[in-house]
Amino acid sequence: MTDSIKVSELHWLLAIVQNIDVGVVVLDRDYRVDVWNTFMQNRSGYMPDEARKRSFFELFPEVDEAWFRRKVENVVALGTPSFTVWEQRPYLLRFKNYQPITGLEEFMYQNTTLLPLKSVSGAIEQVCLIIYDVTDVATNRYQLQAANQELQRLSSTDRLTGLFNRGHWEEILCQDYARHRRYAGNSALVMCDIDHFKQINDTYGHQVGDGVIQHTAKLIRQNIRDSDVAGRYGGEEFVILQPDTDSEGAMVFAERLRLAIEASELKLEGHSIRFTISLGIADLTQPSSDHSQLIKWADSALYISKSAGRNRVTLYLADSGAGA
Ligand code: GH3
Ligand code: MG
Ligand code: MG
Repeated sequence: MTDSIKVSELHWLLAIVQNIDVGVVVLDRDYRVDVWNTFMQNRSGYMPDEARKRSFFELFPEVDEAWFRRKVENVVALGTPSFTVWEQRPYLLRFKNYQPITGLEEFMYQNTTLLPLKSVSGAIEQVCLIIYDVTDVATNRYQLQAANQELQRLSSTDRLTGLFNRGHWEEILCQDYARHRRYAGNSALVMCDIDHFKQINDTYGHQVGDGVIQHTAKLIRQNIRDSDVAGRYGGEEFVILQPDTDSEGAMVFAERLRLAIEASELKLEGHSIRFTISLGIADLTQPSSDHSQLIKWADSALYISKSAGRNRVTLYLADSGAGA
């Protein structure tokens, strides 16, 4: 009897199985329960007597029976263990999550192992299912992902307006430019600047000035399409990239935005403020060396709008001398 376990050893082995903080279930070849440890009792609510010789699928109707049978039959046929991980299947058995720190998750995330169990005759007549509670691992991973996403959002947006900041907006322009290089097509860039903004600051104060910047961003957001990418380029300068749009389309948008701002009246701190913007447009119909050329063109068109009296839209044309 060298390879069989003495009764005293069996006693403490059973105590370990009972008290270990993982779920242990032994199933016979008809998927009926033979062993049910304390973890299983506490989490499922079924006492060992209630669970014994009950069908596993009856106890846990949430288990995909065809899938689980296939998995068990493989373990028996090959005589090797098999595993599931929470990243692929968050849980096998739907247990409530009671972990105090990770109480945000409503169920317990699980990794599981299926072991083939040989009887004395050497035949595999049972399988052992081990269930690990990995809720804290999963929750930490999700919290980290959410924090990273928020960090990404914060580092790409301008706090005052919620539009993209200059750095992130330029990255998008750069990507769009590369796409344009590969597939041709067109893109337009609209640049705008609030007229006489220094006067607004001087007359009403910096906070009202900030409100005017926010109001402009709001009207830009209301007038662009989903595919347009708007950013705050400088203090009171904004840029709108319009992919797959030619200068004519951009003209229509720019004129609409100009009129919307001219017509709106902003009430702030007891003041009633009206203001205008000047705009410049460039598109990619002319040969360009890199993405910053588009910015330069739009900027020089904007400069023409300013010097021609403000509150107007100018389209950059290579031979018009715009900003040249
Ligand atoms: P123009 O019509 O030629 O554009 O005249 P302007 O007075 O608007 O001139 P400019 O565009 O050079 O003015 C920029 C001013 O914007 C200068 C700066 O004090 C102010 N400014 C820049 N950033 C902010 C900001 O975040 N908040 C506020 N309130 N003012 C800002
Ligand atoms: Mg200005
Ligand atoms: Mg300016």
